[in-house]
Amino acid sequence: MPMDQCPFCLLAAGGANEDLVALRTPAAIVVPALKQRPLNRGHALILPTAHVTRLIDAEAPLLHDLYSVAARVSMAVRAAFDATGATLFQNDDAPDQVLTHLHVHVVPRRAGDGFRLPDPASAEVSREERRRQALALRRALG
Ligand SMILES: [Zn+2]
Repeated sequence: MPMDQCPFCLLAAGGANEDLVALRTPAAIVVPALKQRPLNRGHALILPTAHVTRLIDAEAPLLHDLYSVAARVSMAVRAAFDATGATLFQNDDAPDQVLTHLHVHVVPRRAGDGFRLPDPASAEVSREERRRQALALRRALG
């Protein structure tokens, strides 16, 4: 996929979807995931602002920045989405890395949520709900 068509590069470049960005640092942005499980609302993605495909392609300083932000988000989802904890994961290449731009998932967790991966119940969340999630996360990251 050419970088000028990469949806994550477009998000990282800013513009019309800035209201979906919960946090922006020089190296990374945080956005609500498009597809979320009904019992794990608030599922967020941390992605580098530069187009990087696989984990092995990320230099150590970028890994540090990505996971430092992921750690902050793992705490913020507790306050923003009434979670008791979080599950972090990252798909590297096929079959589950659909967008070829490196990203770390942070899934808010609660007892009895039945989290599993991949989950056929995972479905697209409306832009309005993602905008509200970005706002809640932004406040919690404050
Ligand atoms: Zn990209």
